[in-house]
Amino acid sequence: MIKEILEKQYLEKDDIKSLLLTEGDEMKLLLDKALAVKLSKLDNYIHLRGLIELSNICRKSCLYCGVRSGNKLVERYSLTDDEVIECAKLAYELGYGSVAIQSGERNDKAFTDRITLLIKRIKEIGDGALGITLSLGEQTAEVYREWFEAGAHRYLLRIEASNENLYYKIHPNDSTHDFKKRLDCIDTLLSIGYQTGTGVMIGLPFQTVDDLADDLIFFRKKDVAMVGMGPFIPHPDTPLYQYADEIPSVEDRMNLTLKMIAVLRLMMPEINMVAATATQTVDPLGREKAVLAGANVIMPNLTPNKYREDYLIYPDKACVGDKPEQCSSCLDLRMKSIKHEILYNAWGDSKAFVKK
Ligand code: SF4
Repeated sequence: MIKEILEKQYLEKDDIKSLLLTEGDEMKLLLDKALAVKLSKLDNYIHLRGLIELSNICRKSCLYCGVRSGNKLVERYSLTDDEVIECAKLAYELGYGSVAIQSGERNDKAFTDRITLLIKRIKEIGDGALGITLSLGEQTAEVYREWFEAGAHRYLLRIEASNENLYYKIHPNDSTHDFKKRLDCIDTLLSIGYQTGTGVMIGLPFQTVDDLADDLIFFRKKDVAMVGMGPFIPHPDTPLYQYADEIPSVEDRMNLTLKMIAVLRLMMPEINMVAATATQTVDPLGREKAVLAGANVIMPNLTPNKYREDYLIYPDKACVGDKPEQCSSCLDLRMKSIKHEILYNAWGDSKAFVKK
């Protein structure tokens, strides 16, 4: 039965659910098939995005997030402009090809103007050598357009849960956390022309296999260019931590994450998919396993070490103490050990997007 499903050109919801429920040998068949599809469509290349965690100041209070505005235990920081540029220069020198700027959500003009200037300064490095991905939350169409015109060309806005009911179980139900606004933002990003990425957490309280299958169908329907998915890791200083005993085990969350990546690789063979740091946090070989399940992007952290402890959306994040240079050679070896090759000095755009 699983073998037949794996031969199908188009997966219906029941097929997706059956694949997400596989275990043992059947799960291995799924992962092997996803790897074969990835290698045939995208080769064994891994793209890097040097991650710059710009600031943990956030106007939102997502119930799972360690840097939510309601968490008074966190020391707030913001990198200086020069620190951001230094990170980007390091990405260039290390041959990463692209940077990803991530921050807590702010939509005041001082912040959005600052980002525009930073994008322009990063574009000057190596005469436009670096691709720029932004992950700066919900903004107006005007701001998204301004940043796009300044030189950013990829944007990651995770939906976190495509089921509206579940969305409001992991976010406060108020105007700052409006599900429809989030959907509208994803549509706006797509219409502006960004390579748009989204994603979800896997193993959330109240989340069902039905929800996860619908998440994958949501990505396909939106025809996004990139997806980032990782296991949910409860943070002790957040409201959702009260359900930490009720969620699947770490092993089950990891396996479910691998199956989600693999099924999506079958559904959307040419998109970019991140092997999230969260996978390595729950499993020392997590990123390798995610790559072998179909992921093709890794985001090594470039944030100056002194700030990293303050950007813990979830606890015990992997590689927090590593220096960027160490991280680079470690990743290279890790990828070689699983017969994958990091593609240096390239933007690593989504093949699905480029073809469109
Ligand atoms: S998930 Fe993002 S938007 Fe939500 S509280 Fe954390 S940093 Fe802010």
